[in-house]
Amino acid sequence: MASKMKISLAWQMMIGLALGIAVGAVVDSSFAQTYLQPLGTLFIRLIRMVVVPLVIATIIAGAAGISDTSKLGRVATKVLCVYAITTAVAVAIGLVFASVIQPGVGINLSTEGLQAKQVTPPALVDTLLDIVPINPMEAFAKGNMLQIIFFAVIFGFALAGLGERGKPVLKFFELVGDTMVRVTNMVMHYAPIGVFGLMAYTVSRHGLQVLLPLFQLILSSFLATATLVFLVLIPLVYILARVPMMKFLRGIFEPWLIAFTTCSSAAALPANLAAARRLGATKSIASFSIPLGNTINMNGTAVYMGVCSIFAAEVYGLDLTMVDQVTIVLMGVLAAIGTAGVPGAGLIMTTIVFTQVGIPLEAVALIAGIDRILDMIRTSINVVGDVASAVIVTNLEGDLGKEPYVEGEA
Ligand code: ASP
Repeated sequence: MASKMKISLAWQMMIGLALGIAVGAVVDSSFAQTYLQPLGTLFIRLIRMVVVPLVIATIIAGAAGISDTSKLGRVATKVLCVYAITTAVAVAIGLVFASVIQPGVGINLSTEGLQAKQVTPPALVDTLLDIVPINPMEAFAKGNMLQIIFFAVIFGFALAGLGERGKPVLKFFELVGDTMVRVTNMVMHYAPIGVFGLMAYTVSRHGLQVLLPLFQLILSSFLATATLVFLVLIPLVYILARVPMMKFLRGIFEPWLIAFTTCSSAAALPANLAAARRLGATKSIASFSIPLGNTINMNGTAVYMGVCSIFAAEVYGLDLTMVDQVTIVLMGVLAAIGTAGVPGAGLIMTTIVFTQVGIPLEAVALIAGIDRILDMIRTSINVVGDVASAVIVTNLEGDLGKEPYVEGEA
């Protein structure tokens, strides 16, 4: 009887979401901030606690599992190509939708007193050099994901090179990974309450009155993102990996919802790893591409770069030439790659794009008022793009579904 009554975690999270919206609509924002937001913050902290040890262990075990280096090179090239192409397409879709809907036309919001700090992109060579950690322990402590991935892949290869002698250490990391998955599952029991707290706070803080003036911006962002998912990512997954739409949507539901409510793709990483595995990605490809994608593949943020650029240009009455639009696509891709998987990071990175095409940076402060809503939309799609890429690349390698996922393994 008891087991018949059991509601799946996904449903519990949906109930948390619905209750959060309902409660958020009636309580005032200071109550929500004091009493409800901490419930959500606790969830984010718990889940982020898992990320670094989980990624280290799964990448080391995964890299040690890909014993031939040429395979890793091939997989890495394919993964990076899928990321680059989908990200560029995403910015372009954002540009097109915002150009049609024209979210900034007629908006006359005062920007007096608003200021935004400009972010200057680091030189490319510095960005590349920074991938190599001087001290791996520092990279672990700071959670610098690209440095962690770099070190863990090399360590995994070296470990594989030890052959039989390396087995105990490999086993150790496999077990650490499995243990961290168990920790994740424990944390996920708390997810419905965390989701409730996050939604209640968001709704009470950003009620309808805040959203209405910029409704068209939200609409453009939503429609462009939905187009990316339903007309680009899902068809690609179907054509290149033969995964049907409903199966894919069911598979990504959990990480999607975590990203949607927390606005942090880093927080959705553990659920995303499991989702990619359930949809047939192999352990080694998932454990390499999902953490990498979590850090550099931000399809939703890329859409947002396109939409916000048009919006801001319209607010200030600037005409964007064709050259400007191509610049926005290129800079949008770079800005999305450089965006960290934490709430609000994309908003700061828009300054990189705006500066290139001469959009006043005050526009950032204008968008900031509703950025939480835009962040929910873009973050949830950031994680969907990562799973899509992992599934596609696994199938391009001819390995899809060859390593069935056992619940609870890393
Ligand atoms: N919040 C986003 C993420 O975590 C990043 C962004 O702000 O665009 O993926």
